[in-house]
Amino acid sequence: MSRLFSVDLGGSSVRVGHGTISGGLDKVSSQMVGRHGDGCDHELVEPRQVLDFVASAIDGFGVEGTAAGFSFPGLLDAEGRVEKAPNLSPEWQGLEIAGELSNRTGLPVAVGNDARVAALGEFAFGGLVDAQRRSCTTMVYIGLGTGVGGGVVVNGELLTGPGVGGSARFGAAGEIGHVVIDPEGEPCLCGGRGCVETVAGGAALVGAARQLRDLGAAPHLSRLLEERDDPDSGFGVELIARAARAGDHALVELLDRAASALGILAANLMHILAPDFIVLGGGISALEERLVSPMWRIVRERVHMVPLDALTIATSALEDRAGLLGGLVLAGTATVNTENIES
Ligand SMILES: [Zn+2]
Repeated sequence: MSRLFSVDLGGSSVRVGHGTISGGLDKVSSQMVGRHGDGCDHELVEPRQVLDFVASAIDGFGVEGTAAGFSFPGLLDAEGRVEKAPNLSPEWQGLEIAGELSNRTGLPVAVGNDARVAALGEFAFGGLVDAQRRSCTTMVYIGLGTGVGGGVVVNGELLTGPGVGGSARFGAAGEIGHVVIDPEGEPCLCGGRGCVETVAGGAALVGAARQLRDLGAAPHLSRLLEERDDPDSGFGVELIARAARAGDHALVELLDRAASALGILAANLMHILAPDFIVLGGGISALEERLVSPMWRIVRERVHMVPLDALTIATSALEDRAGLLGGLVLAGTATVNTENIES
């Protein structure tokens, strides 16, 4: 089994690993990634610095590898160039990552949207037990981060959308965070309205929780924030879940609303794809109890045309490793294209 390299770039760090598709990751190096205006000059900011770090990490492993897979937090255009990456510095715009990294490493490189790559990792390494994995053909990955990303695997293959074939990139299929669940809902960053992301995305949840705290409707959240060293710094859904558990009813309702949106999304997905496995990723295991049961309740209430006996709904067992593991799978597809990429 050939050794592969995997890169997972996020808004605040980049991780590089090596491993095999049969055995998973063997070693991982990481480095913080800064953003322009954050005043963190010791960290990697420019794309050139990030790619140089990735190349030196790959070199530093001291192992022979055949290809690299790159999980990128943004949208890539039809040529594999960066089209949109709101969490990174603007210099990434228009960059052809696979070629840039290929030039530095001499390796074939495949690049994909982070949620799509995480779906690959989840399908190959995730929470299904072996018997389920053998029979699972169709999986939907719902990545709950700042927004809501997604990836769909049908008959064992990642659904990529049109315009992909033999090239080191993925298409646009799988943007399930922008499925509309409320036509009259809140405006979404995508330009639409009432998308799943506007109710279940981390930024939407934190924004709503902040408002409730400011209104005095979330006293436990206020207390938890005051107990921290830096009460004014940002917080995430984990803290909202803790405050909800402690008794903030307004936050319980907020999370119930997110769970309902995800339940309706799951019911819609059942009617279109009849997946065996719907998995919630993005390091949100703190929310498992608040999301999975309500999702099942809604799916049972609303899905009558499609059998549910093969369906598993779960939170990811891979925590923050789905992207790196998916990168190994993605790298496996890059080896096929060696001639294309090196020429
Ligand atoms: Zn949207």
